[in-house]
Amino acid sequence: MHCPFCNEVDTKVIDSRLVSEGKQVRRRRECVVCGERFTTYEAAELVIPRVIKRDDTRQPFDEEKLRHSMRRALQKRSVSTEHLEEAVQLIMHKLRATGEREVSSQIIGEMVMDELRKLDQVAYVRFASVYRSFQDVKAFNAEIKKLQKDTK
Ligand SMILES: [Zn+2]
Repeated sequence: MHCPFCNEVDTKVIDSRLVSEGKQVRRRRECVVCGERFTTYEAAELVIPRVIKRDDTRQPFDEEKLRHSMRRALQKRSVSTEHLEEAVQLIMHKLRATGEREVSSQIIGEMVMDELRKLDQVAYVRFASVYRSFQDVKAFNAEIKKLQKDTK
């Protein structure tokens, strides 16, 4: 890394340690020419991919929107805010872990359905019926049947 003071190409690391609970490496560097010292931080890049909408436009991922749509599905159901929050965090973790720069809203929708299914079946069906906008009653009933089978 170049020296930020004199732009010399060669700097040496004089100290290196883990910080922020091991999520970052802090390095103390010294310029071999001007002798100035400076610090760098290195962290894994874990960004949430952008969302590719159905109409092919891209949007930044919106955590609040995710939480809101899940909360709406869970309305008047006995699921704690804490459990909802865990599900939100898990989905975001999965999204970061994809390592992709962009994911389709469909993939996110499937992740939401997976989590809702675990939390509350009614909420799952509510979300799925809106999300998948079931074309007909048949498709909807098939989904319900599948659920009933799963819970047996
Ligand atoms: Zn320098």
